Order: sequence, then C-alpha cells, then structure tokens
Amino acid sequence: MNLRYDTFFIGGTWVRPATDRVIIPVNASTEEQLGQVPEGAEADIDAAVAAARQAFDDPSGWSSWEPARRADVMDRLADAIDRRADGFVERVSAQNGMPVAVARQLETGYPSAVLRYYAGLARAAEFTETRAGLFGGSIQVRRVPVGVVAAIVPWNFPQALSMFKIAPAMATGCTLVIKPSPETVLDAYLLAEAMEEAGVPAGVVNIVPGGREVGAYLVAHPQVDKVAFTGSTAAGRTIAETCGRLLRPVTLELGGKSAAIVLDDADLDLAKIGEGLFGSTLLNNGQTCFLGTRVLAPRSRYAEVVDAFTALAGSLTVGDAGDATTQIGPMATARQRDRVESYIAKGRGEGARITVGGGRPAGLERGWFVQPTVFADVDNGSVIAQEEIFGPVLSLIPYDDVDHAVRIANDSDFGLGGTVWTSDPERGAAVAHRVRTGTIGVNRYIPDPAAPFGGVKASGLGRELGPEGLAGYQQTQTVYV
Ligand code: NAD
Repeated sequence: MNLRYDTFFIGGTWVRPATDRVIIPVNASTEEQLGQVPEGAEADIDAAVAAARQAFDDPSGWSSWEPARRADVMDRLADAIDRRADGFVERVSAQNGMPVAVARQLETGYPSAVLRYYAGLARAAEFTETRAGLFGGSIQVRRVPVGVVAAIVPWNFPQALSMFKIAPAMATGCTLVIKPSPETVLDAYLLAEAMEEAGVPAGVVNIVPGGREVGAYLVAHPQVDKVAFTGSTAAGRTIAETCGRLLRPVTLELGGKSAAIVLDDADLDLAKIGEGLFGSTLLNNGQTCFLGTRVLAPRSRYAEVVDAFTALAGSLTVGDAGDATTQIGPMATARQRDRVESYIAKGRGEGARITVGGGRPAGLERGWFVQPTVFADVDNGSVIAQEEIFGPVLSLIPYDDVDHAVRIANDSDFGLGGTVWTSDPERGAAVAHRVRTGTIGVNRYIPDPAAPFGGVKASGLGRELGPEGLAGYQQTQTVYV
C-alpha cells in the first residue's frame, strides 16, 4: 500500500495544506510505510472551522433542512461507505493492527449501521414539542442543533468512533470538523471520498488529521460550539478544563478498566462462551476501551477460571492483522507496545503470577506484537489492576462472595463497561445493576447503536449512541407563545 494525499477535505472540496509537514502512517504488522498525508496546522483548522461555521450559519442551509432531507444524505453516505468496505478494512487494519476479521465487522458494517440508525431517528424524532404552560398559554420546546462540533477521535476504532459523533451531529443539523489521530489517517481520507460521492453538502463535515497540539487548538477555537472527544482520560481532563473555562459543552468517552465478574454458576465451556469472552476481554488486541480486563473469579472455582482464561489466551492465533485467521494482531505503535510491556514488567514486580504469555511471540520479529498474557493472583489494589494497559493483558482476581465481587468491581477510578458470566441471566442482571458503570453485559457485550454508550467516573461524561446520543448535539430553545 502506498497512498499519498496532499490536500485536506474542507468545505466539500480538496484544499491545499498551510504547511508542508506530513504524517507517514506505518503498517503495525510489518513496520512498512503505507503512504503520506499532510499534517494539519492551525491555519488548516481555521479553514475547516470557517467552512463548518459557514455551512451551519447559512439560513437556508443544512441546519435549516427538514430532518428527513438530511436523513436522505446520511443514507447515501452509508451506501458510499459500504461500497468502500474492503478499503476501510485494509486501511484500518494495516495502520492500527486490528485483525481484518474484527475490522470487517466493526469498522465498516458497524459505522454504516450507526449512520442509518440515526437517519431513521432524524425522520422519526420530534424536534419541536408543544406543551401547555402551567400559567396558561402554550410553550414550544425546540431541540435545535448545538452548532459547529469539534470531533476528536483515537486510533483504536477510528471509523466507528468517528461515526458515533458524525451520525447524531448530522441528524440534528450540526456541522463538524473531525481531527483523526495521526496513527489512523488513511481511512479518514476514504471517508472523505465517501462524503464527496454521497453529496454531503459543502462544509457539513471537514477532516483535518493532526497531533495533539492541533487538537488542542481545535478544542479552544472561538468558532466551535461543542467538543466531542474519545481518547485517554489524561487528554480528556485537559480538554474538560478548556471546555470548562469556555463554558463549552463537551462529551468525553475516556479510558476503562472494567470488571468481568464470573459467578459461581457460570458455564466455563470455551466451546460455548469462548467467542463472547474473547470479544469482551481481548477484542482488537486488547486495544478497546470497554474490555473487562479485571476478571473476578469466585474462590470456589478459582482454579477452573484460571484454567479457562489461560486456555483461551493460549489458543489465540497471533499474527499479521491482514491475515484472515489472525485473532490477535500487533499493538498499534512501538510506543504502545513499550507501554504494554512495561505493565507486564510491573505485574511481575508486584508478584502476580503469569499463567500464559508475558513476552513477544516467536517468529514475529517485525511489527509490534505482544503475546496474549494472563496474570493470576492479582491484588485489585495493584497497578496492573487499577491502570488501563490497552493491550492483550488480563488480571485475574479472586473473590469470596458476590458482595465482595461487587466491591472489587466498583473499586476502580473507571466505570465504562463490564460483564457478568452466569447460567442464570436474571441473577446476572441483578449483579450487573450493582456495578457502577455506564454499560455492562450479561454473558455478552457489544455496544449496540440503539442504546446509550459511555462511562461514569474517570471514564467520561455524557453518552453517545441511542436516541440519548442526539441530546449531545442539541440545545433546547423554549418559546412562550
Ligand atoms: P489520546 O488521548 O492520546 O488521543 C486521542 C485523540 O486525542 C487523538 O486524536 C489525539 O491526537 C488527540 N489529543 C490528545 N491530546 C489532546 C489534547 N490535549 N487536546 C486535543 N486533542 C488531543 O488517546 P489514544 O492513545 O489515541 O487512544 C487510546 C485511549 O482512548 C484509551 O485510553 C482508551 O480507553 C480511550 N478510548 C475510549 C473510548 C470510549 O468510548 N470510552 C473508546 C476508544 C478509546
């Protein structure tokens, strides 16, 4: 792959960058260069925000359209994305190491499903409600678009997480500037091409890749009305401070360290639950925010749970992300692998016991691979149980009874995902209700576009997806008639 772009998608057209700085994306599995794109500078952000502003402020433009008319554009965009499915799979998986089997499911079909879902909501939602006033008269409660959105996305699910913002923003009549992560830029260009083909009106979506400085500049830009951020908790805190100072609405989807609670009645047959366990604890090489990476195991069946997770992690095919049989690809960057390896070293230093993995896989000298790794006998207070590792590393923690399991699950700075494993789904749901987290699954976990997704505590503020996701892109205007 050698893809070269020398313009940005701004104002519905291809605009030359302000500087000659470039980003060179690299194949995480082979360390080969994949092409080159321009790196956004402040002047490029100014141009993108101006285009989004103009598109939003146009009195007969996008934000004034009937929602159903916007929905038609969104459906066309979903079709244009689907037509490029192979390209998205290839580009995402090469850049960030996501196995192609995962990318096909979550970085093409999923984003277009989110877009079609929000097109449907745009057609069905009531954007104005009339109420009887308590003191007489009638009142219009209008849900108006918040304005120009700065959307900042990470590299781990670049298309899905962009679409979590683009789809509700388009449905409500907002316009956007998207800043993709420097690690995943080539898929963003494919998305821009889909926008162009679908006839998304000029300036509704503008895309400028760049690093954190340009991201910070975008967040604080005076012409931006709302910030939607997905990324690390550290960056989220900085962004929240800026937005606090500016009184600017912000949605933050941040890190996680969720609990997978195995109840004493769980069926541990990997033939039955292996796929679900994998998807909720190790998906995308462990580079997924909602994974249940703290596995809580009842003392009565502790050895069995250790054996099951050891067998699961040990059975996974590790290899080039572009290979259809790969289940675990490389870490997205060398820095990310260093980080994961430093946590594995900390786990050893803290006295946890490695039951499988712990090193680099044999025969994969190129690419940033780490073996799927399981630590047993982990103390929930230890670093590997409290900090997000963002790699294929699980910590197994024993518990005495369900109350103890719930206490451990809640003893975390984070609260994003989680699972409960049981042969009694009702009992599982009752335990799930006691966990302080934004989302949780019983015997399965996958963020569903029809339901709100997001975290509590250090995992973030606000919700994306579901009808609730529209609210993040709207303000109410009350008119007393
Ligand atoms: P990151 O915070 O380093 O970067 C995310 C994005 O923000 C990138 O585009 C980056 O350039 C930009 N950025 C960084 N600092 C910024 C700043 N101060 N101002 C403006 N922009 C800034 O995160 P990452 O390493 O790319 O992604 C991994 C993290 O994302 C993990 O912590 C993971 O849990 C989290 N994540 C959360 C969710 C969720 O929905 N909760 C989903 C995926 C990933």
